[in-house]
Amino acid sequence: MKRMSMMVARLYAPAPVLVIGGWLASFAVEHADGLLGVHGARQAGSLLALLGTGLGFVWAMLASWRLYLWLRGMEQGRCHCGGLLSRPRRKGHGPAYRKCLACGEKVPLVAPPMPDAPSGT
Ligand SMILES: [Zn+2]
Repeated sequence: MKRMSMMVARLYAPAPVLVIGGWLASFAVEHADGLLGVHGARQAGSLLALLGTGLGFVWAMLASWRLYLWLRGMEQGRCHCGGLLSRPRRKGHGPAYRKCLACGEKVPLVAPPMPDAPSGT
């Protein structure tokens, strides 16, 4: 199931990036003590590290929640390959779409009409 591992990797990838970004920003700010003063630089640095770690944690929790919904079949919309779809995106003035996290295919946002939906006649 290489495609599904790809999907999980794409789902969780931003979390470590956020944590590492927070650490790098904290490192950069702590060494800019000429600008903020030693005490201010240390405080801003630890705040940035905490913010990055917190955002990474929240992202991982949300990714886990979406994966849980997808596993239970409660996630809205699914690619024909069975993969989880991204949040709605729009490029320029084009139609909105959702990208499959497993195969990368763009799925148009407009849902096909449901066969059992009331037609109104
Ligand atoms: Zn797909």
